[in-house]
Amino acid sequence: MGLFSKKECAVCGGKAGLGSKSLADGSLCKDCRQKLSPWFDAFSETSQEAIRAQIEAREANRKALEDFNVTKAWGIKKYRVAMQFIYDQEQRCFVVVEGPEESFRERNPDIIRFDQVRNVWLEVEEGWSETGDQYAPASNRILTQDKYDEVFWRYDFYLNIALDHPYIEKIRYPMNFKTTVIQVPQRFFMFKRGLELAGEYEGEEIAYQADRLDAMTGKEDALIRLGKYSDIIRLKYKDQSLPERLVRDVKNDLYIQKIENVAAHVRRADRIRRLVMGK
Ligand SMILES: [Zn+2]
Repeated sequence: MGLFSKKECAVCGGKAGLGSKSLADGSLCKDCRQKLSPWFDAFSETSQEAIRAQIEAREANRKALEDFNVTKAWGIKKYRVAMQFIYDQEQRCFVVVEGPEESFRERNPDIIRFDQVRNVWLEVEEGWSETGDQYAPASNRILTQDKYDEVFWRYDFYLNIALDHPYIEKIRYPMNFKTTVIQVPQRFFMFKRGLELAGEYEGEEIAYQADRLDAMTGKEDALIRLGKYSDIIRLKYKDQSLPERLVRDVKNDLYIQKIENVAAHVRRADRIRRLVMGK
């Protein structure tokens, strides 16, 4: 008998082989691991007793989901597998789960009470690539200001929800399904590094960023309507034919749509924060 024969799962007594995890006081097999919350990963600090309690709580959770009444699901509806924040206003609780709304209970998402939330903050990741396709690799070249309007800025949004909960410390989930890719036109000698949105925002700062983005679309929209096209997109061609002008107008519209899309994620983060924090 080899060394591995000694490793058995502290919870079910089965073999803790490939895919098992080390606990503070034993091993946990892959099958038992799959019964745990998707938000749990503090294996090495957790005792087998706490793991057993979590598995029991997860079974109770599955039953409690039958009484969970959906008030609303907040998330991208276009993609069935996009993450959703789903809440029950009456019972003051929520789940964060892969959609769609009709079948979320099958995934046994942990029900979290509003009063278990310690803090909510939005994390915006910003990068850039040289082409605009969805899976273009982020560039690590040095980017100079004069290239700001040629590159494609990439945005991902993560909502962090810190908890006082028996086995989940924090929920962190992607709010967007696809990376938002956007070209940001520059004006005169004012160089803007993308939407200047990279960072972490909490409390009122989230609403402030959403307002700033809304103001940005309002301003761009007004300029476009005034016909100050050259302010919006620095033109690279001199003699513009009608098709070229149409392309440019479509680009302007697209730019506004993209900012609105970014603002929608930020607004949703703000709505969630106000809902669960009650302010
Ligand atoms: Zn096991």
